[in-house]
Amino acid sequence: MRKPIIAGNWKMNKDINETETLINTLLPLVADATAEVVFCPTYLGLQKAVEMTKNSNVGIGAQNMHFEKNGAFTGEISGEMLVAIGVKYVIIGHSERRQYFNETDEAVNKKTIKALSLGLIPIVCCGETLEERETGQAEAKVVAQMEAGLKNIDDVSKVVVAYEPIWAIGTGKTASKDQADEACGWVRTIIGKMYGEDAANNVRIQYGGSVNPGNVKELMAMKNIDGALVGGVSIKASFSEIVKF
Ligand code: PGA
Repeated sequence: MRKPIIAGNWKMNKDINETETLINTLLPLVADATAEVVFCPTYLGLQKAVEMTKNSNVGIGAQNMHFEKNGAFTGEISGEMLVAIGVKYVIIGHSERRQYFNETDEAVNKKTIKALSLGLIPIVCCGETLEERETGQAEAKVVAQMEAGLKNIDDVSKVVVAYEPIWAIGTGKTASKDQADEACGWVRTIIGKMYGEDAANNVRIQYGGSVNPGNVKELMAMKNIDGALVGGVSIKASFSEIVKF
């Protein structure tokens, strides 16, 4: 029932020329993807990326947005501005934004509500630190992030959640398929408690953290995992192998 969704988070990589080159490389390679495919280049690459993917199976996402429409927020970009150029998805609350830019659950919630109101599909991130995992607090952390980040939402089934244990991001250390599935299950259970089981069964939950062509298949076979949020490999030609898992 749930269409798999695989998104590439390019992070702060690829200038405008490199963005064009990478999209030219990837587009033909992902044309026969099994999953819904999303590229998330930098803000500066978004408009070009939207133009280049217009008649393709690829949707374009931003890596962040502000929840206000406009105003005195130096350096920020609003959801309205993303919609105006044809962006369809937005990553919200990535652990790097929480860690380096002090993004709170409250901001995540405001951004998620705003994104949905604009018709953008939010990819809302959650996940625990290594210390939290080792001290048995992983579930409590993920549940708390979801309770705060996903409250007061009209149609939660449009939300995509990315469970990304921080210790697995960019480290080459993937969560085992059972660890990943268990945590995606925590997400589905809390959404079920908040919005009912039907809604929870419609929410797509991605795993993220060192996903690569070698481990994607076993991850995607797990019952609570509906996709992947990919960092490092998303800017390589081999991303095309991930979307065909
Ligand atoms: P990674 O990043 O695939 O490089 O671990 C994942 C992410 O941060 O979304």
